[in-house]
Amino acid sequence: MSKVITRFAPSPTGKLHIGSYRTAIFSYLYAKHTGGQFVLRIEDTDRERSKKEYEDNILESLEWLGLSHDTFVRQSENVGRHKEVLEKMIADGHAYISKEEAKDGSGVIKEIIRFKNPNIDVAFDDLIRGHVSMNTTDLGDFVLAKNINEPLFHLAVVVDDFDAGITHVIRGEDHTSNTPRQILIQRAIGAPTPIYAHLPLVLGEDKQKLSKRKGALPVTDYRDMGYLPEAILNASAMIGWNPGTPQELFTKDELTVAFDLAKVQKGGAVLGVEKLLWYNREHMKKLSDKVFAEKAKEWFPEDLKARENFSEIFPRLMPMLRDRLATFGELKSMHDDGELVYLFDAPSINPEQLCFKTQSRSDAKVNLENILLALGAVPEDAFTKSKTEETIMALIGEVSRGPFLHPLRYALSGRDRSPDPFTLLSILGKDASTARIQAVIALL
Ligand code: GLU
Repeated sequence: MSKVITRFAPSPTGKLHIGSYRTAIFSYLYAKHTGGQFVLRIEDTDRERSKKEYEDNILESLEWLGLSHDTFVRQSENVGRHKEVLEKMIADGHAYISKEEAKDGSGVIKEIIRFKNPNIDVAFDDLIRGHVSMNTTDLGDFVLAKNINEPLFHLAVVVDDFDAGITHVIRGEDHTSNTPRQILIQRAIGAPTPIYAHLPLVLGEDKQKLSKRKGALPVTDYRDMGYLPEAILNASAMIGWNPGTPQELFTKDELTVAFDLAKVQKGGAVLGVEKLLWYNREHMKKLSDKVFAEKAKEWFPEDLKARENFSEIFPRLMPMLRDRLATFGELKSMHDDGELVYLFDAPSINPEQLCFKTQSRSDAKVNLENILLALGAVPEDAFTKSKTEETIMALIGEVSRGPFLHPLRYALSGRDRSPDPFTLLSILGKDASTARIQAVIALL
């Protein structure tokens, strides 16, 4: 078989949403799986609705996802060629100019170009939907162009696919009913019919069509929320496709190897928001320590980056962040909730909150003094979570932990809720931890 050439042909009339970029992903993966080429065509012939900002958004989104194209074209650049084809179709008797009154009631007569419909049955074998057959009589002599210089969607798609040598048209199910019309045009202009694969719709968790109000976000929103592109790519590729094995986690290269149109399902496929977070978390786990730290730094609140102790504290936060974050964007909400600042600045202490349940102040004070003493024996460079835990648990022995660990945790964080005290000790380090405990003892 000749080399596979697929295309993604978005209209720049909105930001790139999940339904569309899943189509882009499948087209890209199929091309790369077969060693073929991937064409990106911006279908901007609808001049009123097409916007440059949306074209930019589409390009940015595909680049972020790593879906690089082999060829790029704007449909508006092909209008001369569309005109040439229309003229030939008229000359050959496959199309004709129809003088019709404009629908706006202005009485203006327009020269619309209509297709001369042969009124036949048209059938094609869709790679996903199977055999599709339709009688085209009901379509009538459908419109090909508003005038010789303004081709409409069906003509433009057919001509551009033909000229680009597209072998496989992979697109949304909503285009299935357009295909017989497009096949009629192909036959009229002597273009081969490509292989079609109409993808199932992407549905929301309620199994309803996704809409902007219901969880369908532009891909750039996920980028701006601190998701990883490889997670969005992986999660989207699994909507309506699976490899036929239980494997769910894939890199782009692994998807390229595994992807197969034959395994795309027919029925609507669901995008789960929780699942998306799961994919992101899993892909975050795969990041090396170095890359994880770089990304965390990139997303870290600027005001904390400006702290004098930033370079000391930041590396020690990594185990906690690896454990907690599902997206890097969550660093912002953590900071907004006050969950980061006390790791850099000593907290203000409310003595009312320091004691455990009915514990007396003097008991809390004695316990903190003993903890301080025990920690004094731990060298600064061994002030880890496990070492401090071992030391303090040995001190507590068999008695109740709350009267020790609650005052300690509160002295270090000044918060009702925080990571466990050993994690805090490991993050703050020996000097800052000691200073915070001493300050509380003085207060008591
Ligand atoms: N431009 C069309 C759209 O955005 C896609 C056309 C096609 O894939 O054939 O829906």
